[in-house]
Amino acid sequence: MQQRHWVVVGMLALLVVPLSGAPAAPPASAGPPSGRLSFTYQPPVSARVTGAPAADVALLRDITARLDRELVLPHPVGVVIRECGEANAFYNVGERTIRICHELWDKRRRMWGTSVKDHAEIDRRLGDAMIFTLLHELGHALRLELELPLIGRMEDAIDDFATLWMMRSGYADAAAVAARGHYARAQQPGYRHDHRDEHSSGLQRGFAMACTLYGSNPARYQALVAEMGAGKDRLAQCRRDYPRQLKAWDRLLGPHLRRATVAGT
Ligand SMILES: [Zn+2]
Repeated sequence: MQQRHWVVVGMLALLVVPLSGAPAAPPASAGPPSGRLSFTYQPPVSARVTGAPAADVALLRDITARLDRELVLPHPVGVVIRECGEANAFYNVGERTIRICHELWDKRRRMWGTSVKDHAEIDRRLGDAMIFTLLHELGHALRLELELPLIGRMEDAIDDFATLWMMRSGYADAAAVAARGHYARAQQPGYRHDHRDEHSSGLQRGFAMACTLYGSNPARYQALVAEMGAGKDRLAQCRRDYPRQLKAWDRLLGPHLRRATVAGT
């Protein structure tokens, strides 16, 4: 259902900004040539860093390639997996790169390891969380490179983008795992949320994602929101908000999608 919305708006965008014949061409009126989204992997250099497993590298490489086929960017943007000296992920504006640090895998592996003993399950959760991280940082990149007129709490808006894009790309259940990950992180011993932080608390971020998922498919994500203790009125709001969120992001991103997306590929 959600995919159809994006496609419809993409079609509307085509009426306004006609594309040239080649499927991968930018809109004719875009002026400068479009940028490609590239992917670079650099293995960890420190013995103490385990970092990204090969499966996650392949997964993020595939998703990046798919995004590259779907998006029209004004400049080249790189996705780089590398050791950074910190457990982090961010968009570096100067270099136009989304950097995802090996140390973030290690940190999340340790976090899940405190409650999950099955290593295969930890690997699955890690992969799902890293898809969310890639799309969250892509949201920052798109906001800056496309000059998207986002208002309100920026990090919350970027989380919404990541959640919706995961849903339209077939990773809705991975988004549910990432939502639970925010919850789990907030329940770690010693976790404290600074109310001045630009990010909402882990509990708020996790529930916001769950709310969007529930809004798109109440039956499938009833258990997820129930785990988080949401009441009837709040859930009704989630159902009302979902199509509005989708419509807003459709309007923002429709003009920046390629023909290939409209064709459903
Ligand atoms: Zn962010």
